[in-house]
This record gives sequence, structure tokens and C-alpha cells, in this order.
Amino acid sequence: MIRITRSLLAKPALFIFAGIAITLATTGVTAVSLYQMRLDAMTQARDAANNLALSLEKETEHNLDICQLAMRDVVTSMETPATLQLTPDARHLVAFSAAKNVRELGAIFAADAAGNSTLDSRWIQPPKLNVSERDFFQVQQRQKGAGLYLSKPFMSRLGAGKPSIALSLRLDDANGQFAGIVAGTLRLSYFHHLFEDSILGDHGTLTLLETDGTVVMRQPYHRDDIGRSLAGGHSFSTLVQSDHGTYVDVAVIDHVERLYSFRRIGNYPLVVVVGLATDDIFAEWRKRAFAIGIVTVILDALTIMLCLMFSAQLRRRLAMERQLKTLAWFDALTGLPNRAQLNKEMLRVLTESGRNSSQSAVLFIDLDRFKRVNDTQGHDVGDEVLSETARRLRDCVRGEDVIGRLGGDEFLAILQNCDVHRAAHVAGRILQTLYQPISVSTKADTSITLSASIGVSLYPHDGQDADTLLRNADMAMYKAKSAGRNQVHFYAPVYERQAKEQLELEIALQRALRGGGLSVAYQPKVDVTGALQGVEALVRWNDAKLGVVSPERFIAIAEESGLITELDSWVLDEACRQLAEWRAEGIDVPGISVNVCAADFKRPDYPAFIAHTLRVHGLQPADLILEMTEGVMFDESADDIRASLDAIRALGIALSIDDFGTGYSSLSYLHRIPVKELKIDKSFVRGIGTDAMSESLAQTLINIGNVLNLSVIAEGVETRAQRDFLQNYGCLMYQGYLFSPPLSPRDFVLWVEAQRQQMPAG
Ligand code: C2E
Ligand code: MG
Ligand code: MG
Repeated sequence: MIRITRSLLAKPALFIFAGIAITLATTGVTAVSLYQMRLDAMTQARDAANNLALSLEKETEHNLDICQLAMRDVVTSMETPATLQLTPDARHLVAFSAAKNVRELGAIFAADAAGNSTLDSRWIQPPKLNVSERDFFQVQQRQKGAGLYLSKPFMSRLGAGKPSIALSLRLDDANGQFAGIVAGTLRLSYFHHLFEDSILGDHGTLTLLETDGTVVMRQPYHRDDIGRSLAGGHSFSTLVQSDHGTYVDVAVIDHVERLYSFRRIGNYPLVVVVGLATDDIFAEWRKRAFAIGIVTVILDALTIMLCLMFSAQLRRRLAMERQLKTLAWFDALTGLPNRAQLNKEMLRVLTESGRNSSQSAVLFIDLDRFKRVNDTQGHDVGDEVLSETARRLRDCVRGEDVIGRLGGDEFLAILQNCDVHRAAHVAGRILQTLYQPISVSTKADTSITLSASIGVSLYPHDGQDADTLLRNADMAMYKAKSAGRNQVHFYAPVYERQAKEQLELEIALQRALRGGGLSVAYQPKVDVTGALQGVEALVRWNDAKLGVVSPERFIAIAEESGLITELDSWVLDEACRQLAEWRAEGIDVPGISVNVCAADFKRPDYPAFIAHTLRVHGLQPADLILEMTEGVMFDESADDIRASLDAIRALGIALSIDDFGTGYSSLSYLHRIPVKELKIDKSFVRGIGTDAMSESLAQTLINIGNVLNLSVIAEGVETRAQRDFLQNYGCLMYQGYLFSPPLSPRDFVLWVEAQRQQMPAG
């Protein structure tokens, strides 16, 4: 649980995502609720409109029924012959006994076949009035059995110009001929009052329509609306097709969108329509939605803000923790590992060296007279000098090595896979690099030159643990100081001597290389018949003071000091020159092999250099073989080397694997690089005849070469027995003292001539 919390707290961005997720969720829930509320508002409005429509329908139907009954009474009395004999008073009484209930609605009257009024519920003597022009008269006159007819609205002449409608029934005489009508007029103000009391909201409407679309009454009341036709509206067909229903539409009259609920009034050709404006329906909802929206936005903003603040705070805390960690393990001024971190690094390097049984070196580096810089130039300048020193130290070592600051002007270098030669070399380079003037950026024209004293201890010889190695390197550094500063001292006297020799050798080698002190010896490569098949160029150093130095020794020094590429270039040029010279003298030498190392292939211009050298001496790419050991393929900059190898292959120059079998167990590189020849190392050849293991290894190596279709040559062949064994197992080329040691150019010519005389002419 604690672990989960801690890992969550290590991810500040997570809180921002959480904030966004919470916000999205609450917004989503709010939106769904608001939508639901809106649906509810609509449902409630529909129920209210339906209820209102129903109650108005019932009320109106009831009143129309009363009116119709009263009219039917009048018809009955009119069609009873006895009634005609009665006095007007009595007739009035008989005819309108039921009509008193109708008074509120309007009046009931009768007219004869010519349309003249004969009876009127309001007066015993009916007023002189002719209705023959009216639709309610004409419809009944025209059509027998038309039943109850409902007129279009009109302005009542007797009712002081008030809008009315009329219901009419037909009167027939004894012969069934048209005898007039009975009509009931309904004052529309009745509906007006009825509708007025209904609660409809600000933009609601109530409409009483005839089924042909004629407006009988509309609330809100405008006199002009009465008699208008709504038959053109798109929802009109819905209205007339069923008894009741609801729909949403934009009104023809005022273009307001409303929810409409309609009901047909009984069997009358009338429809009551209740319209509630959607604006009114949603007014409350809108207010609430707005409030809820504002609250949600505020809450969301607060949530996001809190999350942002929390995550920012967390980020600051993590940054601070990181910084503290850096402070704990790294030096603030130079950014180098500090003493504590160096201890950890030393432990790591020593464990690794112990495991691989390799050597490593500890260099204690102390600037000479640094205190004087601080005292005379100030601490700012002192800091600058230390930073620059750190930068330069880093440039002096390989990626796997460690540079750190112990404090003050003391630095430490821990070098992995490092023997005394390399340690001496790196220390020498550090002295040289640090001795370059440092120009101070804060003080123009000021430059400071400082030397350093370096003490070296070597693992495992000078100590098995970090403390001992550090102490011994420190002591060696003090020796360097007391011996006059600006120098390197080794803790162990034996290394001290070796390192001195190493330095002397390096200087002497450089002198020899540049002063013509090196030469090249040539060793023939022969086939089974002893005929010359090639020659290997081997560098020689015979120093006036040091005597003959073995290539094994000075090649290692050249590699460590970086002189090797210069040396190899010189040998390549010299060997090519010599081959060209022999050929010019008429001596037939098939080609020349030259030894190269990893450093050569790392030169970007190496392929071009080889091509140039061949051209200068008039040789062909086929005249040259480059001998490299397997180690080259496993160098740390294998990619650069591959690029060079590809370019060299493209030139048509052959590669030979030297000392084959002594390097790496993986043979996969043989597929990847363009190898032409394998050289079986002399250590295997030496054991032939005495050591069964060497013999079987030699056999195996020959087999590999033959299977891969490479030429196989054995080096270090010293006896006939070795040669015969090798020939038996398929190795058909040889190099070694049995045929010839490496020779000077002049001796090589003599060897070739002697050989020619021995060989049968062919
Ligand atoms: P390598 O390329 O394997 O050369 C063969 C070495 O075996 C040579 O030693 C040669 O003198 C020696 N040798 C030849 N025949 C016999 C024999 O029958 N018996 C014995 N015991 N040894 C024999 P050398 O000249 O001392 O060279 C040592 C190594 O130095 C060479 O081994 C090569 O790796 C390197 N080397 C020589 N010249 C150059 C050069 O110009 N450049 C580079 N990078 N390395 C070179
Ligand atoms: Mg060789
Ligand atoms: Mg060899």
C-alpha cells in the first residue's frame, strides 16, 4: 500500500490526468441530469396541456349539449300543430321552457321558411329580423337531414356586435317541406371567459377551432383572429385526423414554437387546442440548468486548479529531492562525483576487476600551488580554474573510466582495465593537458598556468580495497610533490621504474619513428613446393642506446601512446615502396602483407590513404593484404571499423586474420567481414608433434578455413615435421624459420635468388 502511494507520488502528471478525468466525469453526469430534467419538464408540460384540453372539452361539450337539447325542445314544440294555436305568451313559455339554462351562452330563436324570425327566447315579440342570408339558415334550407350545423363566427346584430356562432336545426312541415330553422346563438365571450381563467404561461394559447380550420376563439384574444383559417398550418392534418393528441409546432399566427395538445369536442365539429410555448416550458429548466452549469464549471475549475497546484508542488518536491540526491553524490561546482560517490564507484570497479582478474589504476591528482591562485586572484577565479580542470580531466580518459573531485584541488581518476603502461600514459597526458594556460573569463587578459602532481596506485598489487588504494595513491602523490611537482609517481618502486622506462621508451620511439630509426624486415610466405607466394612486412627497431627493442614491446607502447597509426602508415608506405623497387629490379614478388590494428581503421581517411599509397608506388589493390587480429572486430568502436572495412573491401584489398584461434570464440564475424586468409597462430604450430591438444586445435582451425573456402597459412613453422603435419591436414601455405626468418631487403633478394636456383626450372 505504502509502495503504491509512493510510486503514485512520483508521478506528478498523474494528478493532472486525474483532475481532468474527475472534471470530465462530473461534467458528463451533469449534462445527463440536465437532459433528463429537460425531458421531465416536457413530460410535465404535456400532462398539464392534456389535462387542460380535457377539462375544456368536457365543459364545452356539456354546454353545447344543453344548448342542443333546448333547441330540440323548440323544434318539437314548433312541429306540434297545437302549439301554433297558442297565444304568443303561452307559445313562448312552451317553446323555451328548457332554454333558461342557455341564457348564459346566448339565445335561441326560430325563423320561418323565408328566414324571418318567429320566436326568440329573449323576447315574447321577436324582433323583425331576417336570417335568410346566414350560412346556418341556408345550409338547413338546402339540405334535408343536415342535422346540427355549426356556423362560422359572425358579429351578432342583436348582441351589440359581439362575436358569436350559431347552431341550427331544420324545421319541416307536415309534408316534410322546409319550414324554417331553430337556431341557438353562442356568444364567444362565453368561451373567452372560460379560457381566460386557464393558466397558460406567458406565451400559451387556447384555440377553439372548427374542424375546417376556422378559428372560433383564441386566447390571448384578438378580435381579428376570429374567423381566420388555420387550415394551411403543417400540423393541421394531425388535428383533424384523430380525437386527441399532442405535437410541437411553430404557430401560423405568431410564429412561436409551442407544444400543442388538442381534443375534439364530443361529436361537434369543434376542436379545442391548448398551446404551451416551449420557451415557457423550459424557462424554469433553463434557470436551473444555468445555475447548475455555473456551479459545475466552478467546481471543475477548482478541481483542475487543485490538481495543478498539487502536481506542481509534487514536481517541486521531486526536483528538490533529486537536487538533494545530486548534492549528496556530486560536487556542486564541477558536477563530478564527490568523495562519497567515488567510494561507490571504486567498489564497483574493484569488484569488476576482481571478477575479470584485470588490473585497474587509481590516480590521485593534486594541483600545484592552487592556494596561491585563490589568495591572489580570488575565489571566483579559483572556482573557474577548478571547473576547467574538471573538464580537461574528463577529456583525458575513456568513457568507462571515472573522474571525481575529492574536495579542494584534489581530483581522482579510476581507470578500468589499466596496467602500469596505460596508467603512466594517461597520467602523462593529464600532466600535459593541465599545464596548458587557462584563460579566466571574469578577468580579461588573465591566464593561469598550473601544474599538477599525480600519485598512482594499482589494483591488485598496491591494495585490495578502496581505502588502501586511495591512501597509497595519496602517498605517491606526496612523493611527486616533494620531488619537485609537475610529475607522476607510482606507489610501488617496481612500477615507478617500469613507468619511467615506459616514458623513456615512448620518447625514444617517437624519435626513431620521425628520425628514420625504424626499418622493415620481410618474411617469405611459401607454398608446399617452397615457392614464394608472398611476403610479410615486420617493423624493426634497433636503437643506438637501447639496442634491439622487440616489436611486441614497442608496438604496445605505440598503441598506448597513439603513435601506432603514424607507425603503421610509415610501414605501409615503406613496404609498398620496397615491393615496387623489387619489381623494378626484376624480382618477382607476388604481393605484400602488412600488419594493421584497430586504431588504423578508426581513422576516417584510412581507406583513402591506402588507395593513395598504392597509387603513388604504382601498385594494384591485389598486391596488398592487410593482417588484422580478431580483436579488431570486437573493439568498442566496431561500427566505425566496419565502415572502414567495407570501404577497403570496395577497393579490392584482401584481409587476413592474424593469430587466428587465439582471440575470440565467436566466429560469426567471418561472415560479416570480407576475409580472404586465415593465419594459424604460431602457438598451435609449436605444439605439433609434442602436444595433442595443439594438434587437434590446429586441425580444427585448418578445417574452418577450408570449409569457409579461405586460404589457410600457418605461421611459426620451424620443423619439417610441423610442415608435413600441416600439409596432411590441408594447410598448404607456410611462414617460419624453416623457410626463412624475417630478412632485410638485401637478404630477402639473396633468399629469392638462392631459392630460384634450388627449385627445378618450371
Ligand atoms: P605477427 O604478425 O603474428 O608476426 C609474426 C611474428 O612471428 C613475427 O614476430 C615474426 O618474426 C615471428 N616469427 C616468424 N617466423 C617464426 C618462427 O618460425 N618461429 C617463431 N617463434 N617466430 C616466428 P615479430 O616480428 O616479433 O612481430 C611481433 C608482432 O608484432 C607481429 O606478429 C605483429 O602482430 C606485430 N607487428 C609487427 N610489425 C608490425 C607493424 O608494422 N604494425 C603493427 N601494427 N604490428 C606489427
Ligand atoms: Mg602478422
Ligand atoms: Mg601472427
